[in-house]
Amino acid sequence: MMTPMRYILLFLGTIISIHYILSFTHEEYGKATSISNIAEQWTGSKSDPPYKTPVPDGYYKPDAPMDLQDRKANASFVMLVRNSDLIGIMSSMKQIEDRFNRKFQYPYVFLNDEPFTQSFKDHILALTNTKVEFGVIPPDHWHQPSWVDEDRASKSRDDMVRDNVIYGGTYRNMCRFNSGFFYRHELLQQYRYYWRVEPDIKLFCDVDYDPFLVMQDQNKVYAGFTISLYEYQATIPTLWNAVKSFINANPDLVAPGNAMGFLSDDAGESYNLCHFWSNFEIADLDFWRGEAYSKFFEYLDEQGGFYYERWGDAPVHSIGAALFAKKEQIHFFNDIGYRHEPFQHCPQGDLHAKGKCWCDPNQNFDYEWYSCLNRYDKIFS
Ligand code: GDP
Ligand code: MN
Repeated sequence: MMTPMRYILLFLGTIISIHYILSFTHEEYGKATSISNIAEQWTGSKSDPPYKTPVPDGYYKPDAPMDLQDRKANASFVMLVRNSDLIGIMSSMKQIEDRFNRKFQYPYVFLNDEPFTQSFKDHILALTNTKVEFGVIPPDHWHQPSWVDEDRASKSRDDMVRDNVIYGGTYRNMCRFNSGFFYRHELLQQYRYYWRVEPDIKLFCDVDYDPFLVMQDQNKVYAGFTISLYEYQATIPTLWNAVKSFINANPDLVAPGNAMGFLSDDAGESYNLCHFWSNFEIADLDFWRGEAYSKFFEYLDEQGGFYYERWGDAPVHSIGAALFAKKEQIHFFNDIGYRHEPFQHCPQGDLHAKGKCWCDPNQNFDYEWYSCLNRYDKIFS
């Protein structure tokens, strides 16, 4: 007699037999139903998670750098940084690469008063395919010269710290180096133009054209700038007097059609403190290496104001560019969206759209009360 239990066993036996027959005769069926596979469907594979398998090469679209025969300028980026600036300078460099250099492939020169660590170099090299060089600054280009009266210099630092002057106690060597030495570094001898980049800047827009070629073709020497503003008087009490005595002694070096009107509202009698903000600079190294600026820097250096006061490279470069070049040779990069804390230049209107900029156009330093752009505009009107 067939009890219900016997029916069930017969049914199960038939199913299992069909399963085994199919497993041996149909490979795919066997694979799909093997216990390990079924277990995987419940728990997931025990191998690496999918993201650990790299996307196959075939999916990558190579960057499209300029063709080799495309015209390029003889130019480089320049970054003066400490090892401790690594994170900030990687952030800047990544943006430079993404917005500009991925296409244009200009090299980089990193400078430091101490040797860069291997780890610093490795992190930087990982960000680009272009040439990167790391240089150490010769000690006599960096340290306070022995003829500077240290008692007087340290009293000045103490006074500025007491008066809360920004960087009152530091940054003398850096400002002097940026004013008169970086362009003499051996790694920069091979180049004509440079673009200075600092840690933690923001580059808001695509730069789809080559600003170095613009400078070269239009005979610009200082493009410098995206932001211009007033200097702290307390850092440069005697700078303008030194500038005036230099001009009086060397009237031939001053360029006709210069930009004195940007620096002074009374034909050179006094300095209105306007300067181009030098944390962004695109300029011609040969201009700094030339006779006028070299003599100018040497003269300023002899006054000791880099140590007895706190002369910054921004006013020193700006005064040099404004006096020894024609005003048309100084260029405002209106289309480069740029931020260095706490100010930013955000391109307006069509330029904002053209550069696919991500800054807020309402946050723009150009005509804020502390900006000198109106003075730059005025020298051309
Ligand atoms: P700020 O922009 O005026 O606030 O000055 P930063 O702190 O940004 O310094 C200006 C530039 O000089 C940056 O690129 C710094 O990384 C660099 N810098 C400042 N001090 C030193 C230093 O002692 N050694 C080196 N190697 N770089 C320095
Ligand atoms: Mn800075």
